[in-house]
Amino acid sequence: MQTDYSKIVKRTVVIKSKQLPYDLLKEFKKIEQVYKEMLLELIEYVIKNNVKSRSKLHKVFYRKFREKYPWLPSHYIHGAIGDALTRVKSFNELKKKGKAYTNKPVVKRVTIHVDSVLHKVYEDYISISTSLGRIKIYLQKHKHWSKYFNDSWKVSNTNRFKVKDNELVFYITFKKECKVVDRPNVLVIDLNENNATIGISDGKSIQLLRYEYKLGDIVRRYHYKRRYIQMKYGIHRKGVSPNLNPIFRKAMEKIKFRERRRKRDIIYKFVNFVINLAKKYNANIYVGLVNKEKIVNNCNNGELKHRLFQWSVKTIINTLIDKGFEHGVRVVTINEAYTSSICPICGSRLTKNPSPMTHHVVRRGVMNTLRVKVLKFKFRIMKCHKCGLEEDRDVIAVLNMLKRTGKWVPPTLGTTAQTLIWGCGNPQIIKTQININKN
Ligand SMILES: [Zn+2]
Repeated sequence: MQTDYSKIVKRTVVIKSKQLPYDLLKEFKKIEQVYKEMLLELIEYVIKNNVKSRSKLHKVFYRKFREKYPWLPSHYIHGAIGDALTRVKSFNELKKKGKAYTNKPVVKRVTIHVDSVLHKVYEDYISISTSLGRIKIYLQKHKHWSKYFNDSWKVSNTNRFKVKDNELVFYITFKKECKVVDRPNVLVIDLNENNATIGISDGKSIQLLRYEYKLGDIVRRYHYKRRYIQMKYGIHRKGVSPNLNPIFRKAMEKIKFRERRRKRDIIYKFVNFVINLAKKYNANIYVGLVNKEKIVNNCNNGELKHRLFQWSVKTIINTLIDKGFEHGVRVVTINEAYTSSICPICGSRLTKNPSPMTHHVVRRGVMNTLRVKVLKFKFRIMKCHKCGLEEDRDVIAVLNMLKRTGKWVPPTLGTTAQTLIWGCGNPQIIKTQININKN
């Protein structure tokens, strides 16, 4: 059965303009200033009167702003109205979660929203309306930009820009309708804190891989960094409100941003790796949906660690689905419950092997330095008392998931799994001794 699935995928590309002459720069600074003023006034009104509709705001403010700033092309007002509404909306969402520190949204940085009337995007330049008329802004093109421009992506109608130093920075959104088709083979992924185990099956043979991305280690490392800052500012003491100290909050935000960036890099690398594999083996991707509540309930200490881990899992799955659409690979989520506690061969419950876990250590040089990177990882062995199967927990999960997708092949003696070590440069492959001992 062949079914088509389609979705509109969006990507935002950042591109800088070439240096602007003085008079133009002055003009855009003026627009930015006025836009900010309008935005502040609009937000004030929206919060006070709890307005949710665009047309109501338009009725109240359009005439007023037109009279106040007669030189400004009128569509900048539309942009500011939309901007104000989205800012208040996301502020209210933060407030619901208890993460808002002020009683109204703070406007720190402004990006000017422009619609299709105000601007048009070309590969070399963007033409944009100002009080001086229509102006061509030439761009500092980069590879990424040209790729999106020539690759059947469409430029979105509304985009944003800001003035920075003596250039403009544009945030251009590209859209594309992406289709995925069902593929005959199957690639399943079992996601863990520090690694993912991948099984590929064509109905005749199974191939197993293990990818170490060490996301859990990063979470832990940043957890300690956060603790250190809390100690430094005395926040851990009772009665000290963390929100009152702006330096503390800034330091925490910086760490949060860094952690997120590091994780994102790792996730993108992993997702690209998986999608290329799926393409190579002509397979659909099946990823186990982790049961969040169960993990939190089973966890006695370090609840925070697990919550952060959950964030990563969701991001990995969402990135996979999104990137899958872009590359025409179908990504399906399947229930992961009991996959690592039931024997894939006879279906009886598995027990933890009393013998210690097998540890592996990999040492490798870091490019162009004298440093050596040490990666440690372990296999958690499970045992079936009925049929004698003795295998790594994650491999068992993958085998059970393969069973659920219907591409199950009874494992033969000597099915091997490769372990791919994520690190600098290309991942390193180590063959491991994973054997399926069928009695
Ligand atoms: Zn068994």
